[in-house]
Amino acid sequence: MHKLAVEMFLCLKCGSDLRIAATTSENARTNEITEGSLVCSGCRTTVPIVRDIPRFVPSESYASSFGFQWNRFDRIQIDKFMHNDLSRDRFYKTTSWPTRLEGQRILEAGCGAGRFTQLALETGAEVVSFDLSSAVDAAWRNNGGAQKLTAFQASIYEIPLRHGTFDKVFCMGVLQHCPDVAAAFRSLLPFLRPGGEIVIDVYEKSNGLPPLKYLARPFVKHLKTESLYNLLQWTIPPAFEVKKAIHRLPAVGPHLGSLIPIGPISHAPRLNYTDAELKQVKILSALDMLSPVHDHPQRMDDVQKWFEEAGLVEIELKRGYNGINAKGKRPN
Ligand SMILES: [Zn+2]
Repeated sequence: MHKLAVEMFLCLKCGSDLRIAATTSENARTNEITEGSLVCSGCRTTVPIVRDIPRFVPSESYASSFGFQWNRFDRIQIDKFMHNDLSRDRFYKTTSWPTRLEGQRILEAGCGAGRFTQLALETGAEVVSFDLSSAVDAAWRNNGGAQKLTAFQASIYEIPLRHGTFDKVFCMGVLQHCPDVAAAFRSLLPFLRPGGEIVIDVYEKSNGLPPLKYLARPFVKHLKTESLYNLLQWTIPPAFEVKKAIHRLPAVGPHLGSLIPIGPISHAPRLNYTDAELKQVKILSALDMLSPVHDHPQRMDDVQKWFEEAGLVEIELKRGYNGINAKGKRPN
């Protein structure tokens, strides 16, 4: 954590300013505290700084599957490592933000391994990112050293920042995995400055048959994330090879192959995946569907209502990469 970043935090218990209490390890060149603690100037509550990151929660709580997932698969969705533009596409199609945002402050709620953190930083904005899980460590590793990034570990329901200080807030791939989705959305709003903009996406609840994963989730929910990962690691690569062999059969191949429910075995050439990487993508995607404790898709009408009831203006809703994309502005 950069020493100056202490200014942005407030005590979760009493709302007073935090100060740097102790640094047991720091980088004198960059002014980063790597190990130490913050202390509340009012109630004296302390916040440990561990591996560069202030930790405002004692545990990962319901998000521990994501801690496992994003430390295990810390690079597979990061454009700069995969040499593709998958995250970039989703980020700009969802936000419609300009590519240059110098002088602005962006809050990212639920950064995971930092796939969108990288893109927010590339705009030149100052970026503040948090996650409830230890995925925040992966995000820090993947974007480490960025002078304009502050990362911390905290709950979306208790964000230890000053109100009204962000030009933009975004929360992508996160809300459906919170126990109370609408409350998680509402907890982001106080951080917008007047005229500031919030962008979210959330899974959409379908009117027809629920996706296959909702049938499978009850059978695997008792498994620890690591056991589920081992199971997928053991089954998906051979299934991939079998599907690939079946696909080569003339005429019937693709039809027969579609009975193996691991998605397509080929990919858009621009994504640059090798077969080995594609197998990892499939394991990640299955883990991501099956392991989260919470998965609560939402209806378009309800999301519209959240934005209206929050008094936001210039509200836009559309269907996008992750289900529903929604944005709105705090009035000036
Ligand atoms: Zn306090």
